[in-house]
Amino acid sequence: MTMDGVTRLDIGAKHEWNFRRTILIVDDEPVNLRLLDNILGDEYDIDFAQSADEAINIVQTEKDAISLVLLDLHMPGRSGFAVLDIMREDKDLQNIPVIVVTTDKDAEVESLKRGAVDFLGKPYDKPEVIKARIGRAIELFIDRAIIGATGLDRLTGLMTRDFFFQYCQEYDKFHPEQQVDAVIINFSKFHLINDLYGRNFGDMVLKSMAEGARTVARAYGGVACRDNADSFYLYIEHQKDYEYLKKTVTNKLYTTINNTNVRLRIGIYPDFYRSCTLQQRFDRALHACNSISRNAHDTEVSIYDNKMHEKELYEEQLLADIGDALTHNQINVIFQPKYDVSGDAPVLCSSEALIRWKHPKFGYVPPDLFIPLFEENGQIKELDRYVWRETAHQIRRWKDMYGVTMPVSVNISRAEIFAPDLIDFLTGIVVENGLENSDISLEITETAYTDSVNNIVDAVAEIRNHGFKVAMDDFGKGYSSLNMLTNLPIDSLKLDMAFIKDIAIDNKEMHIVEFILDVAKFLGVPVIAEGVESREQYLLLKESGCNIIQGYYFSRPLTSSEFGSLIEKSVSSTR
Ligand code: C2E
Ligand code: CA
Ligand code: CA
Repeated sequence: MTMDGVTRLDIGAKHEWNFRRTILIVDDEPVNLRLLDNILGDEYDIDFAQSADEAINIVQTEKDAISLVLLDLHMPGRSGFAVLDIMREDKDLQNIPVIVVTTDKDAEVESLKRGAVDFLGKPYDKPEVIKARIGRAIELFIDRAIIGATGLDRLTGLMTRDFFFQYCQEYDKFHPEQQVDAVIINFSKFHLINDLYGRNFGDMVLKSMAEGARTVARAYGGVACRDNADSFYLYIEHQKDYEYLKKTVTNKLYTTINNTNVRLRIGIYPDFYRSCTLQQRFDRALHACNSISRNAHDTEVSIYDNKMHEKELYEEQLLADIGDALTHNQINVIFQPKYDVSGDAPVLCSSEALIRWKHPKFGYVPPDLFIPLFEENGQIKELDRYVWRETAHQIRRWKDMYGVTMPVSVNISRAEIFAPDLIDFLTGIVVENGLENSDISLEITETAYTDSVNNIVDAVAEIRNHGFKVAMDDFGKGYSSLNMLTNLPIDSLKLDMAFIKDIAIDNKEMHIVEFILDVAKFLGVPVIAEGVESREQYLLLKESGCNIIQGYYFSRPLTSSEFGSLIEKSVSSTR
């Protein structure tokens, strides 16, 4: 079947996958039982009851197994109404659909009132009619079960994540041959919508995204759910391309948010062979999704491929090897000098500690690659603290060797900012090495601030109250509002490298840098420019009032002994 040029799975199929359903037939005449068994036995498992009492007993004991009751009203003893009444009163039974068999029009109305969903005439209608009515009633039952309170997300009306996974698992069981796609749709930087326009509007945006997800799921005979505020999962029949999917979700979204600046990231894992578990498939879809930059300029679709698989294996290896790396001295700390350029000649004033990993098999592993990995994995704490401890030792050693204290800034991962023992740890290494708290400053990325504004302001204030300095790293990359900036507890701003890269006299990047320098002046904090690679950049920055410069122009990051020589030179030149 096609619709909008899209392959379409028979919607009815979503109701077939489950299992062979069981129907309870209640009729006192054996001949009727046999007749119905003949018509329905191919498609359904049949249970029989020959009286109301027997029927009640069976629905109560087998309520989870029975999908429908076909109920004759006229039986010796209690009538069919008794069965209806008892089922309607019982919350476990009231969702099981009952089709009443009768010739009496008045009885039809009465049965409706008592909860029956449909009627069949006696003598029995044509087999096709019976089958169609039963099929429809069972679909209704499934839909109703799906709409059960726990299965639905309150805001969007989509399935909840748990329910979704159950549903997919069932689907897999009964459609082992079907090729399927696991899809994750993520709204980049959704929290900004809430921050800028308020929660109510944010909810509307999520609802319109849900509408898009639902539309696609329906068109592809699949299902959709919402997970974690701004992520949507789809489980659909495998598609050759994803244009319709992308168009549908973005267009629905634009009905609410009339701003084509919003970006969706769509990750897909097509599984032709069902070679991994459902969870793994969605993990891979997420991996594909996360491979798209949050700062991408357009809604993008990424399909999990071999390269990603290899990357995943590589990352798994890194995760497995980090323990050894720490105990076998594969992890090192190096130091990149920072120069104070406010005077006539640049003066070495501090440095940034940067982590290095020399892996025995892979060689040098860039921190941009493994830091996010360990952040996700929760192991970053160990790494960060290793760097901080080494740094404190090193400041001590230099102090002993050259008689000066060289302050160092260390990076801190956002999750670590909230660690309850953070201050204790920092104070511990300072005391151990006979340093001052102000000898160590922490570089916190601007995105960490913009991602959790309220909490972070308090946490950072606490850090500063103890005398440690805090720099906002990669400034300009996030979206700090001016209002937020003025309330921020910080000691310095580090300009994001991307601005520096393209600065030239009077160009856009230069204007942004000048604007940031003005903001910093207003806040009364110095600005550090990093990634300065050329003399031109250095001079432009110096002239516009930038205070401190870090970058290849002055020096690459250095080993501790190389850096020591630099301190020595600097000390002797000032004597
Ligand atoms: P970052 O904090 O922004 O660090 C600056 C990065 O810029 C460093 O890369 C540095 O080597 C590089 N860099 C410095 N000057 C120049 C230049 O002139 N040109 C260019 N192109 N690059 C320059 P690195 O060492 O590869 O670190 C990358 C990122 O990894 C860091 O960015 C930081 O976010 C993270 N990182 C490094 N060490 C640690 C650590 O100990 N803990 C944590 N949590 N993150 C770390
Ligand atoms: Ca940094
Ligand atoms: Ca930086």
